[in-house]
Amino acid sequence: MHFFDVYFSQIMLARVGFDCYCYIIMRCPYCNSSDSRVADSRPDIEDAVIRRRRVCNQCGAKFTTVERVQMRDLTIRKNSGKLEPFDREKLARSIKLACRNRDVGDDQIDKLVTSIHRRIETETADDIVPSSMVGQMVSDSLLNLDPIAFVRFVSVYRKFSKISDFKKIIDQIPEDDEGAVVCKLPKTSLF
Ligand SMILES: [Zn+2]
Repeated sequence: MHFFDVYFSQIMLARVGFDCYCYIIMRCPYCNSSDSRVADSRPDIEDAVIRRRRVCNQCGAKFTTVERVQMRDLTIRKNSGKLEPFDREKLARSIKLACRNRDVGDDQIDKLVTSIHRRIETETADDIVPSSMVGQMVSDSLLNLDPIAFVRFVSVYRKFSKISDFKKIIDQIPEDDEGAVVCKLPKTSLF
């Protein structure tokens, strides 16, 4: 998702929504008021930045902010403690493997990866994300998408070594009389 570097001012609130819209309140560097208006915006295509001249409604001071779109560099912390860069393609491959020969299209997998990527970027403040958190997000999504893929994924992710590991997890999946999963598992019941 997008973040903005703002110079000559401070971001008070940056809420990045699902459709990449941003709501940012600036603090006046002179009187600290958050009440200011934009007097002039100049997009600088070459530098991919937008410079805004702002006027403080409280003290009348003029100041400039610079907004720059920047992707976060996410790092995954594995259970072993090892750090590695977040790799969207690697995540997609692990989900594809779980969905092999299931009725799940590449576009659904791509959407799932995108939604997980967004969730990681919007739900975490830290750039270092535990792999368990990503695994949890994938598990939750797959359970809703395809329960067989869910079991496959969890068996790899949780390193199942015994048949009883499968039994335990399958027994926890609530289903109706026709075998359809009826609701999402509570997070605490699995992990
Ligand atoms: Zn001011």
